[in-house]
Amino acid sequence: MKRFLVAVAVAGLMLSLAAPVAMAKPGKPITPKVLEAVFIHYEEPAKGGRPAPTPTPVDNTYYQLLGPKWDLAKYPSGVPYIVNPSGGPAGAVAEVRAGLEAWDAATGVELFNDSPTIDSNSWWGKLDGKNNVSWQVIGDGRVIAGVWVWYQDNDGSGTMSAGDEVLETDMVFNTSVRWGIDPDGEGPTKIKVYDVRNIATHEGGHVVGLDDLYSDAYRDLTMYGYSSKGETRKISLEVGDISGTQALYDP
Ligand SMILES: [Zn+2]
Repeated sequence: MKRFLVAVAVAGLMLSLAAPVAMAKPGKPITPKVLEAVFIHYEEPAKGGRPAPTPTPVDNTYYQLLGPKWDLAKYPSGVPYIVNPSGGPAGAVAEVRAGLEAWDAATGVELFNDSPTIDSNSWWGKLDGKNNVSWQVIGDGRVIAGVWVWYQDNDGSGTMSAGDEVLETDMVFNTSVRWGIDPDGEGPTKIKVYDVRNIATHEGGHVVGLDDLYSDAYRDLTMYGYSSKGETRKISLEVGDISGTQALYDP
């Protein structure tokens, strides 16, 4: 689990990102009951040396919940969101939408609104009542993307837990790395840049309420915590991704 306490300098747009650590940290208080957590998606670190003679067996069934979830009774047409496509490749809005709709399709409920608003002025990293998706400059080139989650700390625990309510999320793609759209999705063609839909699907999992998984065994799951250029396998949800979503939203 990689939950970053935000060291946000919203005004300066510079993120102070610590090296990945695997520990739960308390959310940053925005008001006494509203906390903020940030999930940063990193490039897969290079593995030195030869591959292990016995690769870790793949486990596609696992998931981990963050705790909070949306109160969908408030969003009968699904959670609305705004996409600011400035800085992204042509066609990015449809790819973001497809990434989020993959989660929708995993449940019997309407999770995300079918029609995102397009707004080239929408902003990020701030609790403003809007679920923004945008491309922004994050100086650290190891950072691919990130999701901000604001939640109501209903149990007063100071950290994400079941029973807490997601109030808003912002998804940010780093313009310091190169973006594109794989022409054949998960087909044989590989692009040499980050595929929008691949990353949007992973980030969408945080919006849904799922945590990162970093063990090698989970490398084929959408919620595996690292990505590489040209990767597209996160586009399709695996059993664990689907089970986690259903655990949250299917009665
Ligand atoms: Zn992640």
